[in-house]
Amino acid sequence: MYAPFFMPKNRHIGRFAPSPTGPLHFGSLIAATASYLNIRQYKNSLWLLRIEDLDRQRSLERCTKTIINQLEAYGFRWDKEIFYQSQRTKAYQEAFDRLSDFIYPCSCTRKILQAAQLSSTQRFSYIYPGTCRNKPTTQDLNNCSFRIRANSYEHCFTDQIQGKFCQNLASDVGDFILKRADNSFTYQLAVVVDDAFQGVNQVTRGADLLDNTPRQLYLQNLLGFTPPDYAHFPVIISNDGKKLSKQNQSPEVNSNDKRATLIKALTFLGQSPPDVSEFAHLDDLWTFAIQNWNQNKIPKVLSQVLPQVL
Ligand SMILES: [Zn+2]
Repeated sequence: MYAPFFMPKNRHIGRFAPSPTGPLHFGSLIAATASYLNIRQYKNSLWLLRIEDLDRQRSLERCTKTIINQLEAYGFRWDKEIFYQSQRTKAYQEAFDRLSDFIYPCSCTRKILQAAQLSSTQRFSYIYPGTCRNKPTTQDLNNCSFRIRANSYEHCFTDQIQGKFCQNLASDVGDFILKRADNSFTYQLAVVVDDAFQGVNQVTRGADLLDNTPRQLYLQNLLGFTPPDYAHFPVIISNDGKKLSKQNQSPEVNSNDKRATLIKALTFLGQSPPDVSEFAHLDDLWTFAIQNWNQNKIPKVLSQVLPQVL
């Protein structure tokens, strides 16, 4: 079950993994473009589409269809069948079971955690204080979430864009949840299991996930998975400093002016595409983008503004 079904032997395998909570917006178009070009620049590469529909309450089937249609319209071509996290519960449970020595049930309610947060002076927004770490497990497990013990090593890795990044999970993150009280698995576990299963060896994604990476490296290490290479490109922010996301109601990407929109995405990623009038067809633009892609030109910052982008 844990052997990847593609053997990544000198083959570049990447993925785009949107969560279907709304249509594709400009920020997610940038994510798709960066991960696509980082893989398509290599011959015989695989670019996979994974739908992160773990959170069934927020995931809408309608949005999944919209995203797939938008990606197709923009000329993205993925290999293999689309992969759905909602169908992977068994695999996540198996990984969870393998980690059982490091996992304990947490019965803290949101209220308790908020109170602990208010009385702490910690700089980071959400560090679990370890309340249930050493409790005897005689409690009713039905309403418990399950956390993994964070260790206090410095987890360091070298990001292809952002450079060296280190985090001490115990002091910077705390014990984190792998399975929620409603029995659903969290992103941290799912992404690690799926990347390993799909043989993904190149993860290109937004820098808002940079500080999630040490948690994923930790899980990969415990599960015996080879970590992929990571490249975290800057996320787009609005003039008032807010990240463009589905949550803050960013408009969906324009479906009429695809070439111009892609040119904007490439420009944001530090590439220097010629004027849109140079490209008669979308395919010509993709050919140019693949041939001229240079990851080293992506700005080495966590976020940047692109004025009048939409
Ligand atoms: Zn707890």
